[in-house]
Amino acid sequence: MNKAIIFNVQKFSVHDGPGIRTTVFFKGCPLRCQWCHNPESQEGLPELVYDREKCTLCRRCLSACARGAIQIADNSLLTDRDHCHACGHCADQCLSGAREVAGKKAVLSDLLREIEQDRVFYEQSGGGVTFSGGEALSQIDALAELAYACKSRGLHVAVDTCGYAPFESFERILEYTDLFLYDVKHMTDTAHRQYTGHGNDLILSNLRRLAAAGANIALRLPLIEGVNTHDENIEALAVFIRDIRLIQVNLLPYHNTGSSKYARLGRLFDPAVCSAPTPAKLQLIAARLSLTGHKIYLGG
Ligand code: SF4
Ligand code: SF4
Repeated sequence: MNKAIIFNVQKFSVHDGPGIRTTVFFKGCPLRCQWCHNPESQEGLPELVYDREKCTLCRRCLSACARGAIQIADNSLLTDRDHCHACGHCADQCLSGAREVAGKKAVLSDLLREIEQDRVFYEQSGGGVTFSGGEALSQIDALAELAYACKSRGLHVAVDTCGYAPFESFERILEYTDLFLYDVKHMTDTAHRQYTGHGNDLILSNLRRLAAAGANIALRLPLIEGVNTHDENIEALAVFIRDIRLIQVNLLPYHNTGSSKYARLGRLFDPAVCSAPTPAKLQLIAARLSLTGHKIYLGG
């Protein structure tokens, strides 16, 4: 069987589709949303994570790195990420858990076994498995194999997607996917490009085509104040989804649980971009979108 690069398998998940679910997080995403709360999901390959708060400066990791990629400076460690190849030898020597590698190659048969372990909970709750990320469709061969295997074992399959993938990739999993959790971030192409690194043409076109092909779609709207909550964007969204068949629409107000992860990956996070809309603003958005006839829910 093939392998997938994943960064987490979350059991007993209740926010990624109906019932109790196992969520498999694929690593690698074509978008770079400035508010992403899983920045460790973005790069396609495993990467080193360093938590300065947990580091005791014991220096055990320095000698473990054959590449000499670790240095001590200003009571902290610096990792030369150009030389680090995420082998994890330093993490193996770290007793305080300050170093770890995000992402690993997982054999699909092992993943399947892990997913199937909780079948009884899926059956009792109407749950199943969700393939998320990152962007699961960026590893379409592995995703198609897993989706087919889960579906043929009678499991409910959901795929959480940013929509930025060739439509042919969606076609490969359509038959084996009971529900798509489909993100739309912004209705203006230039703003979408500014905040995520890519325009929205492909995403909106895929959404239309997927709905026309009969897919069950829950639309998910990450709502970031100052980015996509203004009237013009909500109005454009309402007009766009008015004639699209959707199971429901989920409003997902921004939360900052991922902000501290950026430093651990040696990356910058700009908190100025990201804040949550007020409850009053959320109510207004829900009220406008409910006029489209779709069911609107707060949260995922
Ligand atoms: S993951 Fe490997 S290459 Fe990277 S810093 Fe640790 S030991 Fe060195
Ligand atoms: S082994 Fe862990 S605790 Fe020790 S210096 Fe390295 S990162 Fe810090």
